[in-house]
Amino acid sequence: MKEKTLVLIKPDAFSMHYSGDIIKHYENEGLKIVAMKLMKMDERIASKHYAEHFGRPYYKDLMGFMTSGPIIAIVLEGENAIANVRRINGKTNPAMADEGTIRKLYATNGTRNAVHASDSPESAAREISIFFNASEILDEEYEVIMEEIL
Ligand code: ADP
Ligand code: MG
Repeated sequence: MKEKTLVLIKPDAFSMHYSGDIIKHYENEGLKIVAMKLMKMDERIASKHYAEHFGRPYYKDLMGFMTSGPIIAIVLEGENAIANVRRINGKTNPAMADEGTIRKLYATNGTRNAVHASDSPESAAREISIFFNASEILDEEYEVIMEEIL
């Protein structure tokens, strides 16, 4: 099933100039960029995005980290994009992540772990709407135009 999912390149990976390499992992696996923006998260957006983690022992550190520097927010589209992107990212704790995954290659530690990806269709829809308006996401009509260019 064709799905959309939200990816965030977190401040650690962005500041270490890994963004291009990370995006390449997704493109190499056939995922398509349908929206992308460079931004700095403020407390309001970060707490909305990570609402379900409120109260966890790592929450405060996570908020501080996610608002510490620029991030890149990306909407990726593809077959089974939600599960696929999480597989490409690897386990939350990079020490447990498989070889070749983004977190194994680029993460710093369990909190500063290079990337975020949505974990279900419901969270993908919720998270995409935090970062993008519908008009900022490529739709089918735009795809036709892109194909004509190519
Ligand atoms: P994922 O990003 O793999 O979906 P979670 O949704 O469980 O992982 O957690 C969200 C983010 O919170 C993680 O990516 C990580 O930055 C941080 N985090 C989660 N669990 C821990 C932990 N046990 N220790 C430190 N940071 C954590
Ligand atoms: Mg999660």
